Amino acid sequence: MQYVRLGKTGLNVSPVAFGGIPIQRGTAEDTKAIVDKMEELGMNYIDTARGYTVSEEYLGAALQGRRERFILATKSMVRDCSGMKKEVDVSLEKLRTDYIDLYQIHNIKTADFEQVFGEEGAYKALLEARHEGKIGHIGITAHSIDDLKTILSEHADQIETIMFPFNLVEIQGEAALKEAKAKDIGTIAMKPLAGGNLEDWRLALRFVALSGTCDISIPGMGDVEEVEKNASVCCDLSPLTEEERTEIERLRKELGNQFCRRCGYCAPCTVGIDIPTNFVFANYLRKYGLADWAKDRYASLKVNASDCIQCGVCEERCPYDLPIMDMLKKVEEDFAR
Ligand code: SF4
Ligand code: SF4
Repeated sequence: MQYVRLGKTGLNVSPVAFGGIPIQRGTAEDTKAIVDKMEELGMNYIDTARGYTVSEEYLGAALQGRRERFILATKSMVRDCSGMKKEVDVSLEKLRTDYIDLYQIHNIKTADFEQVFGEEGAYKALLEARHEGKIGHIGITAHSIDDLKTILSEHADQIETIMFPFNLVEIQGEAALKEAKAKDIGTIAMKPLAGGNLEDWRLALRFVALSGTCDISIPGMGDVEEVEKNASVCCDLSPLTEEERTEIERLRKELGNQFCRRCGYCAPCTVGIDIPTNFVFANYLRKYGLADWAKDRYASLKVNASDCIQCGVCEERCPYDLPIMDMLKKVEEDFAR
């Protein structure tokens, strides 16, 4: 494994690293098997979050007796100082460790900056945690390009890493992430597979690794096979071929920018619609020749796109500003045909 330096943190990490969302769907034993495989292959960076239900807990159990062989990153949505102090302690307890390498302020928005970086904000708690030796470095994660630009212009000196969506169909952060790199901030590609919309994982991960934009990417992994596949990309960093470039252009035309990344931030829906699942089934209906299977699955949903009351709550929560109500109308129409 060839390791890369994660900006001014100085941490040496695998260019393709572990994203800890999918392990919530499995068991603690599944996570242990995943961590076994990561250790074997040298994938040494683990990203999780307070918000990923059992993810920290499963990882804490799996890391027993080998914590020092991994670089551990987690994050919290809490914005105030006392709340963030508690979050760091809970993360330490769940992860069964006395030290977290990187603690990130999760999904920060411009509207939060005053509180987060203010006198009694979450940033102060992280500075204290770093001083006490509970954490090593401080980072942020964001989803909107405007928020990323504001962070860079107002708080670049205060943070050591930035995590932002970056993949072959979402390159809106390219210039800002390169600016961050130039300031020696570690750059981490969130959603390198576009929330599961890019099926050619090798091409998607090679694109990010070769882009010169992000130091590392953190695809979510839910089983040992995914760890093996993703780790193999680290041994295949020859320049993109002409065929790969043509395929990237084709995918950009096919997906556009208005697609659901399955992040789940829009939940809960007022009437209980599982919004990303409706989009997944519609994708299968439209693109992959699995129309009958998709119709069956859609019909089995207790509430579906046709139950939307257009309240707009979900659109306020979607970090990608998707026109969810219009998109659900389209889903309803497609399944009604
Ligand atoms: S607009 Fe529709 S999908 Fe969104 S929260 Fe309201 S009911 Fe649910
Ligand atoms: S609709 Fe938006 S918030 Fe909801 S899962 Fe998709 S990308 Fe995430």
